[in-house]
Amino acid sequence: MTNIDKLRNCELFLFDMDGTLYLGDDVYEGAIALMEDLPRLGKKYIYLTNNSSRAGVDYITRLRRLGFPCEAENVFTSGMATGLYLNQHFPGAKVYLAGTKAFYRELKSYGIDLVNDEQGHTDVFDVDVVVQGFDTELVYEKLDKAVHFLRRGAKFIAANPDWVCPMPAGEVLPDCGSICALLTASSGVKPEFIGKPNRNMIDVIAASTGIPNEKICAVGDRLYTDIAVAQNAGSVSVLVLSGETNQMMVDEAARKPDLVLPSVKELHELLRG
Ligand SMILES: [Mg+2]
Repeated sequence: MTNIDKLRNCELFLFDMDGTLYLGDDVYEGAIALMEDLPRLGKKYIYLTNNSSRAGVDYITRLRRLGFPCEAENVFTSGMATGLYLNQHFPGAKVYLAGTKAFYRELKSYGIDLVNDEQGHTDVFDVDVVVQGFDTELVYEKLDKAVHFLRRGAKFIAANPDWVCPMPAGEVLPDCGSICALLTASSGVKPEFIGKPNRNMIDVIAASTGIPNEKICAVGDRLYTDIAVAQNAGSVSVLVLSGETNQMMVDEAARKPDLVLPSVKELHELLRG
């Protein structure tokens, strides 16, 4: 089977957002037309993000404001993946969450037994799992509690491995991976990361949709997250050159994407045949 056949054989498409469908508030040419056409082509789609500071509903609002079709089932964040992962691997576990209020409510919606309140307060002495997110509402008490629980043997799960979150004008925010490095330095415990490039991100989607990994295609602009997650999970990968990766970086990469396209407009043309 050629790579184009593999692509057309896929039933579910996972789309990175920034650098793939839009940049900031600028929607790329053909991006909305592709998303609107996918159901007619018999394809399902999910907008996929490693950002665990916002809830799925926040993305629905943003995507619709930009003009994209989006229902609740079309958004998947590393925070949601963490909820599913906890239910699959640690059912009924007592969990301490160090994350935003949005992540807190997201995990509650998956029925996770959180021992702390939205601010990170708890009087509990032991938990089964510590979950760390991209916590833009970080306070010292959360670090203190997380280290306490990890030193007492709690499992360490982190929503996403990113060191930094890119911002406009070349600025960055310290992200979940950097917070975890602090917790590891203090506790000696390393986290299991859920988000891209960990195959967990696709495995939980495959388990919840019933679509096998090889019929899932990840589309994105970053080799080391969007493409790597597909390669790690045995899924199909499409790199678009509309974001942070250029052709020279592809040429130098040890593992190549299944397809490299200028933008999602060309992906639409390939799927239409
Ligand atoms: Mg991107």
